[in-house]
Amino acid sequence: MSTPFYLRIALDKPLNQTFDYEPLANSRMHDYQIGMRVNVPFGQRSEVGLILDIHNQPDIAPHKIKPIKERIDDSPVLSSELMKLGLWLHEYYHQPVGECLFTLLPVLLRKGQTAKATQEKHYCLEHLDWQKVERAPRQKAFLEWLQKQNHKVSHKQALDAGFTPSIIGQLIDKQLVSELWQDNFNALCGDSVEQALALNKEQEQALKGISEKNGFNPVLLEGVTGSGKTEVYLQAISSAVTQRKQVLVLIPEIGLTPQTVQRFQQRFNADILLLHSGLNDQQRLNAWLQASRHKNEKAQIIIGTRSAVFTEMPNLDFIIVDEEHDASYKQQEGIRYHGRDIAVIRAAKRNIPIILGSATPSLDSLHNALVKKYQHIRLTQRAGDASPANLEIYDIRKQSVEHGIADELLQHIEETLEQGDQALVFINRRGFAPTLYCPDCGWISECKRCDARMTLHQKPAHLHCHHCDHKQTLPHQCPNCLSTRIQAMGAGTERLETHLEYRFRRHKVIRIDRDSTQGKDAMEQLLQPVHNGEPCILVGTQMLAKGHHFPKVNLVIMLNVDSGFFSADFRAMEKTAQLILQVAGRAGRESHGGRAIIQTEFADHPLLHLLSEENYHALALALLEERKLHSLPPYAHQALVRADSPNPKEAEQYLHRLLQNIKPLTENGISFIGPLPSPMELRAGRFRSQLWIRSHQRSRLQNFLKNIEPLLYQQKGFNKVRWSLDVDPSDH
Ligand code: ADP
Ligand code: ZN
Ligand code: ZN
Repeated sequence: MSTPFYLRIALDKPLNQTFDYEPLANSRMHDYQIGMRVNVPFGQRSEVGLILDIHNQPDIAPHKIKPIKERIDDSPVLSSELMKLGLWLHEYYHQPVGECLFTLLPVLLRKGQTAKATQEKHYCLEHLDWQKVERAPRQKAFLEWLQKQNHKVSHKQALDAGFTPSIIGQLIDKQLVSELWQDNFNALCGDSVEQALALNKEQEQALKGISEKNGFNPVLLEGVTGSGKTEVYLQAISSAVTQRKQVLVLIPEIGLTPQTVQRFQQRFNADILLLHSGLNDQQRLNAWLQASRHKNEKAQIIIGTRSAVFTEMPNLDFIIVDEEHDASYKQQEGIRYHGRDIAVIRAAKRNIPIILGSATPSLDSLHNALVKKYQHIRLTQRAGDASPANLEIYDIRKQSVEHGIADELLQHIEETLEQGDQALVFINRRGFAPTLYCPDCGWISECKRCDARMTLHQKPAHLHCHHCDHKQTLPHQCPNCLSTRIQAMGAGTERLETHLEYRFRRHKVIRIDRDSTQGKDAMEQLLQPVHNGEPCILVGTQMLAKGHHFPKVNLVIMLNVDSGFFSADFRAMEKTAQLILQVAGRAGRESHGGRAIIQTEFADHPLLHLLSEENYHALALALLEERKLHSLPPYAHQALVRADSPNPKEAEQYLHRLLQNIKPLTENGISFIGPLPSPMELRAGRFRSQLWIRSHQRSRLQNFLKNIEPLLYQQKGFNKVRWSLDVDPSDH
């Protein structure tokens, strides 16, 4: 008899522990490996678990240990590299180990589906015999096309290219084409039709800095919009591509445009895999499996949003994080990880290079560069012929501004259109107006479930709370005093669109916001006239700020960006400046003399002047000084415990109790702020409160969090309270 052994299993549950199970009867130790999934009995149910360890020292009495129900995988779904990354997540973010590990997996694998891709019918070229298709031009065309597609296509590709099943069927009968069922892996094919550009001096220096060191070499590439960062990325990864390795390119949530993908496609003869939120669960699993089974036959470039950082990539050799400052890299629920930070950790553990690129780096990364943790490389000039748009401040105090935009600025738009160019009006508010109000009694359209106002929409007409998604029909009278004079206050994208359409009747006005871009490809269709280059006006939210190249946009007008200047969030100014620069960067990308104008009521704001007269870098240094003075990140480290409850005051009481419990464990160098009501205390019907835990030293904060972990997970007596822990929170 061999000695008994046990499996230590992690479950995808908010429980801060692991569980021991017995193996299946008659199975042997080498049937199991760390990183495989099993089904286990848990309470009345069956749950998917991951094998964390195989051992012979159970935590509980052996007779109490139940056997697993089934082994799901024949080989691990998580490599030891990713298992370690999952454990690192657990250590750093102090979330349950099971949840951390399961977060690395595609949803279908979390649910226990076998790690197999769906299969699709493919057609292969068997035999070329032109005589057999002499009198069948469509069949001949298919053969020719198949030849060009490297002799194999999927059924869907064939239909998309306009061939019918009957044409293909006849070729199969003639034994010229064969059928094959294969994993539905569908990477885009790169075709390397485009040559690398000759780099300018700054780019050349940058490339040198990036390639001068082997192994882990984190680089912050700070380059103004249009300075040719993308060209540097492309040349930096080219040796990895030649060696048929894998490259991971992280991009922001809404930054993936066809233009971005095209640049990689045209440069490299590599497979390009996209991993973004538009994929369904099965497509995501297929892409994940395709990356995890990379065989070094052809290089693979994986372009994806935040969670793509967890893709299994056995031959990963280079990581790029584009727009590294972007807020969408931070996960805001569940395991609240930062995709950029994980990317750096992953590069360090694999000992490979990583570039963090941005025109407006986050203060965190800039700080890391200034203290020499990262190599700091700057591109200060636009590449090619373009010159950057000047940032101008337009003072609207003492002016009557109808429909949200000053008359003089409308004249600028008119001149731009007359020159045959395009104009972009940016306003970060969708809907018609942010508020409906009654001039007779002062009533305003407040949401009953949030400390917020309901936005007035006209297309179609309704009131909508953007915080809890509550919708309501539009009242015709004031609900308070029955006055019929209720009216819109302020302006959003819809109102501007209407106003600009009225004012510029001969030109197209194109509105881009979340409401106008529902549905697949809606955005690209709307943008067609812009890409065609006809004079027109773009009106939109920050959806316009990322990724797009608008060569003919020569004037950018920004409205209401100043709302961030006086926010309670200490990061507001940083975020506002990044947004301003990003939007301004849409102007004059390929021409001279573009203008970017900020319409503001706070034209004297010193930081705004710094931004317009100097640049983002100067502003960022000033903001860092301020952070240092006030002991704020990156000069201090923070964790935030958030709590909420449907009952007023309950979340706050919960945090008070928690603070009482954890205070005795407090060591030197740990401080607390709160509990305090959250900035929007009532949201979606729940009252929210928060407690900050801070330290100047990351290791102290981490130690403290480790020590209080059991208390966090054990606090009882508040059934209605939901709580979460956010390490390095990026907002309140
Ligand atoms: P960024 O990513 O920094 O915003 P891009 O890489 O998109 O900048 O470059 C902006 C434009 O300049 C693109 O049209 C690109 O083709 C062009 N460009 C980049 N590098 C060079 C170069 N060395 N010579 C000529 N044109 C360049
Ligand atoms: Zn009223
Ligand atoms: Zn609401």
